[in-house]
Parts: sequence; structure tokens; C-alpha cells
Amino acid sequence: MSDVVVKNNIITVTLPDGRIFNFPIPVLELNIFWKYAKLIRKNDPAAYPYKFRLVKTLTPKRDEDFTHSDCNLYTEGEKKYFLIRLALDVNNSTTLLIDSLLHEVAHVRTWTHMQDMPHNEAWHTDAFWLEYGRLRRVYWKEM
Ligand SMILES: [Zn+2]
Repeated sequence: MSDVVVKNNIITVTLPDGRIFNFPIPVLELNIFWKYAKLIRKNDPAAYPYKFRLVKTLTPKRDEDFTHSDCNLYTEGEKKYFLIRLALDVNNSTTLLIDSLLHEVAHVRTWTHMQDMPHNEAWHTDAFWLEYGRLRRVYWKEM
């Protein structure tokens, strides 16, 4: 028999052979997310302003490949802006949500004309990975 204990937002499972596994219960603190979103937008602007939108899901029905987030460039009259969308069904904890946010901010900060293409390898360039790594080093430390 395995033993399961839930305490302080951690699920601890002890297997019959004595191995112990700890899983944090996903906790979504939107106030912390918005604090980071505003700080990142202020400290790390892109070529055009960017907005965030939290949505229920970005995954089409029956699609097994879950979409965490996306970003697109829009034109409104003379103005251009990026819209970053984050899906709450898969980003179901504060850390997942902020990690997806950093991923999309790295996209808008390394945006090129190549990104008129469907989401594929062209999006995840060396410049993108460098920027994503930099953002993670800067903002993860503060969490
Ligand atoms: Zn991406």
C-alpha cells in the first residue's frame, strides 16, 4: 500500500518500497502574476507596446497538443501593439503562468517578419532562446 499525505500545499506519496515523492499542489495567485506582468512590461519593453489577456483555453477541442500561450502583432489605425494570451487551463499555477508569460515576452522582444508564418521552428530562434534565458535569470530570482 502506498501512503498519501497532503500538508502545506504539498502532496507526499510514499511507495511500498519506501521511495517518497513530493508534488506541489498547483496554486494560482493572480495578484502575483499581474505584479510580475506589469514589472516586466515596464522594465523590458518591446518594439511595440504589449498587452496581456488571460483566457480559459487556447487548445481547440479534441486537440491533444495543449497550447499554453500565444502572441500576435495587431494594427489599430496608426498604432501597433502585441497581444499576449495565456491559457488558464494549462497554466494552472503561478509559476507556470509566469513562465509562459516570460516565453511570450521573449517572442515579442525578438519579433521579426519571419513570424508571419505559422507557429513553428522559425519562432524559436537563437535570439529567442537567449532572451528567454535572460528573462528567466532576471525574474525567476525575484520570485
Ligand atoms: Zn514559442
